[in-house]
Amino acid sequence: MDKSIVLLGSTLREVLVAINEVPAGIAFVVNTQKQLVGVITDGDFRRLLLRGFDLEHSLKENLLSKDYIFSKQGDNLESLLHKVNRRVRIIPIVNEKLEPVDYFQYEHRTHFTPVAAPNLSGKEFEYLTDAFLSTWISSRGKYIDRFEKDFSTYCGTRHGVATSNGTTALQLALAALGVGPGDEVILPNLTFAATINVVLHAGATPVLVDVEEEFWTIDPKEIAKAITSKTKAIIPVHLYGQPCDMEAIMDLANKHNIYVVEDCAEAHGAEFSEKKVGSFGHVSCFSFFANKIITTGEGGMCLTSDAEIDMRLRILRDHGMSRSQKYYHEHVGFNFRMTNLQAAIGCAQLERIDQILKDREGLERFYKENLRDREIKWQNISDKRRKKVVWLVSCLIKDRDSVISKLATSMVETRPFFIPLSKMEIYRKFRFSDQNSIKISNSGINFPSNSIDESNMILEKILERLEKTI
Ligand SMILES: *Cc1c(COP(=O)(O)O)cnc(C)c1O
Repeated sequence: MDKSIVLLGSTLREVLVAINEVPAGIAFVVNTQKQLVGVITDGDFRRLLLRGFDLEHSLKENLLSKDYIFSKQGDNLESLLHKVNRRVRIIPIVNEKLEPVDYFQYEHRTHFTPVAAPNLSGKEFEYLTDAFLSTWISSRGKYIDRFEKDFSTYCGTRHGVATSNGTTALQLALAALGVGPGDEVILPNLTFAATINVVLHAGATPVLVDVEEEFWTIDPKEIAKAITSKTKAIIPVHLYGQPCDMEAIMDLANKHNIYVVEDCAEAHGAEFSEKKVGSFGHVSCFSFFANKIITTGEGGMCLTSDAEIDMRLRILRDHGMSRSQKYYHEHVGFNFRMTNLQAAIGCAQLERIDQILKDREGLERFYKENLRDREIKWQNISDKRRKKVVWLVSCLIKDRDSVISKLATSMVETRPFFIPLSKMEIYRKFRFSDQNSIKISNSGINFPSNSIDESNMILEKILERLEKTI
């Protein structure tokens, strides 16, 4: 530090020696009272040479830029970060007597901010260790029973059947309801591919209908148009935390005698008419993948209030084996079981679900408030029956791809929305309607959804890019 301090009136040669002393390429200029009066960078020096000054010229105050930025000793990292920008990356720090004592250098971020990360700060490790030490590490044990009971109670259903992941939960649900070849299953065009893959694996025919423009969830009017005598089930997906119109969907299902399998993978805790999602369908399926609202690492669950369906789910989950006679198989089943280790993590997650949802909601509110006057569309929340939760902070931006690359240069991960299924070669022939799905998909973006610490920095980058597009 000392070597990079030069006195006003020194020759430019002496200034150059000082600049050369520190890797940052900067000299701090002081007056005879040792007080900081300015800085001179290697770039400034280059410009002086180009203007014709020679190395024997003495450094006068008028050669320094007037509005240099400095900071006081004791200022925290946050205030320092607020002062750096694209041009100013080094900030001198002065003491009470205005003498330079240190400097802060803003390094390019090397820290990666993911779009989603699990929060495991509760009793997750304690329960996991307990399950491990009990040696019940496979698919029997107290945490399995507890997780099934607690999660089904939380959602307001009588039974819960834990599975190895959310996709197997969907697959198990369709198998338990007897969905197979010759059956049609209606699902939204805008969803994660697991929702359609399980229909195809069951040998049934998917029917991809459009979503509502404002709510982004499956459009009941399109379902009504798509129902045929072959329709066996509807899979409404509560997309990005938004509940589907379950009133209209259950009305249609009851009228036509069709099963409803709710895909709740992105909406743990969301409500419709003051009832939790997952309590409407004949079976409801959740995912506990690491990026979902609560996690077990990999994991899923089927919920139902029908005792007979519950029994079928359990038998099919466990190789279709008879409950009364060991190794006698009544059905062609699966092994879709969850382990006690996964369930242990799930129990700890569930204890904190209210706080986890509140934190995510707070983060979305932060973005919403700070981006209020911008050309951004959020999920419509005007339907008072629907109480959404925040899975990934999600919105529609006109110049979406430019925002994604802007954030990427700062190591901030974002995601574009799902691609409408009917836009992919392998699913194209199952298209019923897709107009809104395409529109939403083209401009939809997910921001990092559980890192409140970095939200200011992320917001700043978003604003930088949005200003240019308006
Ligand atoms: C994540 C997800 C699934 C699949 O869950 P996995 O646990 O990853 O198998 C299914 N449907 C939707 C809508 C999802 O977002």
